[in-house]
Amino acid sequence: MSFWVWPGSRAWDRICLRCGLCCYEKHHTFVRRRGKNIFPAVSPRYYIALDEPCPHLDCEKKLCRIYPDRLRQCRDCGRLTIFHALFAGYLPARCGYVKKFRFGVK
Ligand code: SF4
Ligand code: SF4
Repeated sequence: MSFWVWPGSRAWDRICLRCGLCCYEKHHTFVRRRGKNIFPAVSPRYYIALDEPCPHLDCEKKLCRIYPDRLRQCRDCGRLTIFHALFAGYLPARCGYVKKFRFGVK
């Protein structure tokens, strides 16, 4: 697979490692962390709140229940782009897009 993959294509979707971590609330570190189940994001300024999944996320399977229609049904859901893969500090370092586009891992 080449570096350039068209967002929204099947090849693009295959980069996702189905960890589900982008489907939880993300917070700045200035929000109190105490008592929260958290996961570190790429930027130390953010964390992923594992206690706050999107209501459409199947937390067992780590898959979206409404994936084909997610952009219409979920106000908070956005299409992940190469821009996010490169610069969004709130994604986890283990995200397939971050690994590929930011860290150059194949
Ligand atoms: S709608 Fe689906 S893809 Fe979007 S954040 Fe929620 S679970 Fe994730
Ligand atoms: S964080 Fe990345 S690899 Fe994990 S589900 Fe979201 S897009 Fe896929």
